[in-house]
Amino acid sequence: MDPEEYRRAAYASIDYIVDYYKTITERQVVSDVKPGYLRRLLPSEMPEEPESWDDIQKDFDSKIVPGLTHWQSPNFLAFFPANISFPSILGELYSAAFSAPAFNWICSPAVTELETIVLDWLAKQMGLPSEFLSDGEGGGVIQGSASEAVVTTMVAARDRYLRDAIASKYLTEEEKEASIAAARGKLVAFASDQTHSSTQKAALIAGVKFIAIKTYPEDDYALTGDSLTKALKEAEDNGLLPFFLTASLGTTAICAVDKFVEIGKAMKDYPHTWKHIDAAYSGAALICPEFQHYLAGVEFFDSFDMNMHKWLLVNFDASCLYVRKRRYLTDALSITPSYLRNEASDSGLVIDYRDWQIPLGRRFRSLKIWFVMRTYGAKGMQEHIRKTLGIGVHFTKLIQSFSHVFSVVAPPRFGLTVFQVVPSNSEETANDLTRKVADRINNEKVLFLTASTVDGKTCIRVVTGSPWATVKAVTEAFEYILRLSEEERQK
Ligand code: PLP
Repeated sequence: MDPEEYRRAAYASIDYIVDYYKTITERQVVSDVKPGYLRRLLPSEMPEEPESWDDIQKDFDSKIVPGLTHWQSPNFLAFFPANISFPSILGELYSAAFSAPAFNWICSPAVTELETIVLDWLAKQMGLPSEFLSDGEGGGVIQGSASEAVVTTMVAARDRYLRDAIASKYLTEEEKEASIAAARGKLVAFASDQTHSSTQKAALIAGVKFIAIKTYPEDDYALTGDSLTKALKEAEDNGLLPFFLTASLGTTAICAVDKFVEIGKAMKDYPHTWKHIDAAYSGAALICPEFQHYLAGVEFFDSFDMNMHKWLLVNFDASCLYVRKRRYLTDALSITPSYLRNEASDSGLVIDYRDWQIPLGRRFRSLKIWFVMRTYGAKGMQEHIRKTLGIGVHFTKLIQSFSHVFSVVAPPRFGLTVFQVVPSNSEETANDLTRKVADRINNEKVLFLTASTVDGKTCIRVVTGSPWATVKAVTEAFEYILRLSEEERQK
């Protein structure tokens, strides 16, 4: 493809994308294809001869697009949203055009410096304490996902704990090594039973134990100081070493918010234990001042992560991880072979983000964040959050107004409503009926939503964070859910 062919293909692709979004509401949200459909449509070997872009584009349209789930459709009510916006797509386009695995500052100074700047902007807009900004000892770094962020912090936490809580008690190197080796097998990470599975997975990867602390409906499924104190004591009585805790601002199933202040107080005698906040989805709401009260207690925490790629108009991937002390990341993750050394890095005046993450190479992800921030401004981004939240509240009210058909399982928060379908007779359980309704809705493919289990209750989750969500669409979605629920209740 020469430059002029690229120009033509790129213009046509942009037209395709614009037309796609103009017709998004008319598309069936979930695909009809069956597993393995694509293997039957594509050749078993790569093409021997070059093919024309026109042919490739045709196949993209006829073979790939039919196998897509339309996450931006207003009928996509599942999981958490995965926002896309036009400036963000442009950021990806430029990022691809100037692609560089910019692991060190010198690999493309703008890639590093823009990242530091936009993450500071975001931290300020969210009301994070100044310790998380880059002009002190802390700072932010873009990770690929919240899962990657928690693994990264857990590795830093493990190193810090072994060095500061274990090895520092000994004088000789041999004693230090022996004590570290003995402690490794006793390290334990904590989270609540509502915490996203990424913390458990991080523990698996880091080779440490994991304990999920039970939460209760009377606490709105939040992790409390008392439960944590009990769990810490029990673990220590069993000879374990609590080195890491994830607290959540908005859990996956129900958007529970853990009690950060109580947690901070419960952990005051655990200075070496790393405290991480996972705000993957709900953190986006913090750009509006009226939600910043959720940050009370953040001063007790070592790190904070939120995904702009869920609800903040930046397309996947853009997980924004902040640490209070960046040296814990770099102490744990910095290895500098001779071929990575350079004058700028040696001067200590620049950031080399490779030392803040697991991979070496990294994409130019800050560009799309910068484009979104400048195109929308703080006002436009807040408007998006408030608009989609308003749509969520509208849906919650509809659900609550049919209390003989639906029961809300957890307090609706951040645009998420979690409910069960109430049986009309004693022969059927709410769990069975809710599962039937959820399965039927997803099989009919008019809407796409998630069923999950909270405290033994099978629930339907509905969340409305797409920039393409509307009150009209969510009202129609409600009417559809109501009709199917009524039909299933009468069977
Ligand atoms: N934390 C929470 C609360 C989530 O809801 C999710 C995913 O939905 C994650 C973490 C994992 O996010 P990621 O896909 O960025 O790893």
